[in-house]
Amino acid sequence: MKLKYKILNLFYSQKTKSKHHRILSKYNTYYRGLDRDLKNAFVLRNIYFTNSTTFSTDPKLGLQNPIEILISSAFVQITFGLNQDCLNIFNNIFVMAAPYSYKQSKDVYKGDVNANTGSINLAWPSVKEGFYIDDDALNLAIHEFSHGILLEHINTTSNSPFFDKRRLKEYNVFAQQKLEKVRAGNNVVFRDYAGTNIMELFAVALETFFEKPSDFATHEPDLYKSICYLLNQNPIKEGSPLIYA
Ligand SMILES: [Zn+2]
Repeated sequence: MKLKYKILNLFYSQKTKSKHHRILSKYNTYYRGLDRDLKNAFVLRNIYFTNSTTFSTDPKLGLQNPIEILISSAFVQITFGLNQDCLNIFNNIFVMAAPYSYKQSKDVYKGDVNANTGSINLAWPSVKEGFYIDDDALNLAIHEFSHGILLEHINTTSNSPFFDKRRLKEYNVFAQQKLEKVRAGNNVVFRDYAGTNIMELFAVALETFFEKPSDFATHEPDLYKSICYLLNQNPIKEGSPLIYA
């Protein structure tokens, strides 16, 4: 375990760690599959993320803490193999009780990433469903965090980018090829929405990477491998998915 987390481990109370463990064990399939040491590391990153993020959760939803813990776990899951462990731009998360619209627009959203407000917005019923049904490659929280992370990586001028430059370049080559395939109707493993643009392809790819990794690896081995290296993990290796710990 990295020194940073060893130190955080001393500061976080047992009560907080147990609470995160309890909720993640119940609702996050990825977490449940991890070996014990990795579970401990995951919990520390999860607490760190909830503490470094501002959540505004609709009071109608009742208990806010479990909601924040579960939403955070989607971010931690994506970034578990990376050094960067929080968001610096999109670090405001609004959790709505139902799908929502913006003023002067009829479009209804279940989630979106808003560059003007630096926020990620999520409708809780869809987030919950994303975790409950863990093998349909639909996970709203993973989807929206994928956008937030990639946008933040592209726009970051600080020394805390998410991805290795070379790995991202490799991924982009295969992603572009896949985008063309999806648009040509020659698509097996992703849902068609991935063909919208290269950003949506990334979000759908990560949903599929975590919820249908074997299907993904079978049908698109090069793209799958490029994401393994990009995120430094391979979810097929349940228990111990990290490539370089
Ligand atoms: Zn999207």
